[in-house]
Amino acid sequence: MYDNEKRTLVEACKRMYSSGLTVGSWGNISMRIPNNRIIITPSGSNYMRINIDDFVIMDLNGNKIEGRLNPSSERLMHFQIYRKRNDVNAIVHTHSIYSSIMSVINRNIPPITEDIVMILGKNVRVAKYALTGTAELANNVVEALGVNNAALLANHGAVSVGSDMERALTAAEVLEKSSRIMAYVMNFKYSTIPDDDIPKLLNISTDYLNQWKNWK
Ligand code: 13P
Ligand code: ZN
Repeated sequence: MYDNEKRTLVEACKRMYSSGLTVGSWGNISMRIPNNRIIITPSGSNYMRINIDDFVIMDLNGNKIEGRLNPSSERLMHFQIYRKRNDVNAIVHTHSIYSSIMSVINRNIPPITEDIVMILGKNVRVAKYALTGTAELANNVVEALGVNNAALLANHGAVSVGSDMERALTAAEVLEKSSRIMAYVMNFKYSTIPDDDIPKLLNISTDYLNQWKNWK
């Protein structure tokens, strides 16, 4: 069941790993499927070797529907985001380096470049620290995420979301790029996008992202 969706997930795992957004088996990815269910990476994945038989299908109440491996230990965070955000159909959690730096120094990322606003939202906030895999972490992440498409997890990493896998992965890449820019500029006097232009950028973003369907 859901072989096409699982193939999309395999590609996403390889892209996450090969673009350096995570190392080892850390990070995890999921996508929403019908009937309040998700497909999620197994815990301790090898992202370059994962195949369609390895994924786990779960409902949002935590019941395992299909899969021989243990689901990601961060599944409560995935469930909680899907419960609170109907617009989200894909989630990418990474331990990328510059996002981790921002998460360690507890630094929100303001709208310093236009792609932050267009892809991630008005800003990116750091979720309060809680132990990996806990309901507390899930709640803190949902709170920091708000209506945005990315959040940082204090002393841990990052999470990005989207209406599909392409958008969630791109959000993860833009977040990492933005964290890197922030790391370079934060000790200087830097400027941000004027408030008045933020709604305009959000409008441009809708039309801009619609062009992506040409590449499906
Ligand atoms: P899993 O391998 O269980 O998905 O956990 C990795 C991780 O990033 C925990 O936060
Ligand atoms: Zn993690």
